[in-house]
Amino acid sequence: MNETGLSEEEIRSILSDSKGKDLKYERVLSSMCTYPHKIAVQAHMQFIESNMGDFGLFRGTYNLEKEILGSLGDLLHKADAVGYMTTGGTESNIQAIRSMRNLFLQSPEYQKSVNSNKKTHNKCSRPNLVVPDSAHFSFDKVSDILDVELRKASLDDELKVSVESVKSLIDENTIGLVAIAGSTEFGQVDPIKELSDIAVEKNIFLHVDAAFGGFVLPFMKTSCEFDFDFKLPGVTSIAIDPHKMGLSTIPAGVLLFRDSHQLESLKADTPYLTVSTQYTLTGTRSGAAVAATYAVMNYLGKEGYRKTVSRCMELTDYLLDKLAELDIHPLIKPVMNVVALEVPECDLVRSKLAKEFNWQVSITQNPHGLRLVIMPHVSFEMIDSFVADLKKVLNT
Ligand code: PLP
Repeated sequence: MNETGLSEEEIRSILSDSKGKDLKYERVLSSMCTYPHKIAVQAHMQFIESNMGDFGLFRGTYNLEKEILGSLGDLLHKADAVGYMTTGGTESNIQAIRSMRNLFLQSPEYQKSVNSNKKTHNKCSRPNLVVPDSAHFSFDKVSDILDVELRKASLDDELKVSVESVKSLIDENTIGLVAIAGSTEFGQVDPIKELSDIAVEKNIFLHVDAAFGGFVLPFMKTSCEFDFDFKLPGVTSIAIDPHKMGLSTIPAGVLLFRDSHQLESLKADTPYLTVSTQYTLTGTRSGAAVAATYAVMNYLGKEGYRKTVSRCMELTDYLLDKLAELDIHPLIKPVMNVVALEVPECDLVRSKLAKEFNWQVSITQNPHGLRLVIMPHVSFEMIDSFVADLKKVLNT
């Protein structure tokens, strides 16, 4: 920082240089974020100073958050679900598992086992969490932060978690299960109904990571094929991100719990604020993203999201048809607007696409493939141009 400040003009010039170095979404096929809707941007700017960490000062924004939670609870078949707006899927996942762990550690069974076996206890009773092998890397952070062992269940041929593998990993120290509704790499939906049955039978928690799929599945023509939300009795929490397919601004995630005692397990005293308790991971929290989310959800309505999802799926089908002409096929039939392709030497192809044509695509790990996300900023022209460039790369 300089002793004296720069002029507005100088700052604007530096910022516009920096902005010029950012990639435009027009060449991005790897991201699960997109341009936020115009009405979300306007609302974000209108509430730019609002801090939900001290919401006693920002009652209006707080009411908007309550409305969002009510609407999303309703969409996910539990109008009285409780929760709060997070910074995104990572925070929602951390907090959902933190709540599971806290309640597990407080449970009378666990306390009894600690008391009866104090010497050997630490070695043999570390809490564990069973997640699909396709779980987002935020669960590795969860494991590290919360000191919970992560047990990764294998996937079946369709890249959904294997129910048998999940069952084989559960023991008396399992605090809960995770299912994914829209996996990051493949856009696949786990067999959540079966996992819900297991959670009920074993009396353990089931968190659904619908950070991406939460704003896709309810708006798909075939959504009835996928039960993934609170309609299933075993589902105890859900992560859903307005800043992905919800077209809101960053940072906008939502965490919902079935029962208020889950949220209560996250309570912290906040003596010097206008409110005496907080349930959130962060202290200061963006009220701008709350306003943005309220604005876009209410502006688009379900009809608007149906149109958005339907267009993304049309584009996905169009892309697959074009790729089939090049004899390139998906690893699995895409369930939503995430496509993983069988492409030889895909790491090399990815780097050539970036270097020679400025396209950003990504790679799936297991199985290895070229991954594309067909977000609302994608157009038919963009796909034509991408496929033409991919053809050139493959022929060199
Ligand atoms: N969960 C899933 C399924 C995701 O795809 C992602 C990100 O892509 C996350 C969680 C993490 O979300 P965020 O980056 O908003 O923290």
